Amino acid sequence: MAKFDEAVARKFANIFVCRRCKSKVRAPNLKVIAGKVSCRKCGTKALKPKRKK
Ligand SMILES: [Zn+2]
Repeated sequence: MAKFDEAVARKFANIFVCRRCKSKVRAPNLKVIAGKVSCRKCGTKALKPKRKK
């Protein structure tokens, strides 16, 4: 299971999805949390982590 978790972390850790236009943004976690990253397309800061529910 550990291996699986690592793979998931690598795939999803730094990828976020714009809530408005659904485009993917790759950025460091901390920057997104700090609100320093905005969507390239529409400029909103409403990003959510790319992850399964
Ligand atoms: Zn957007």
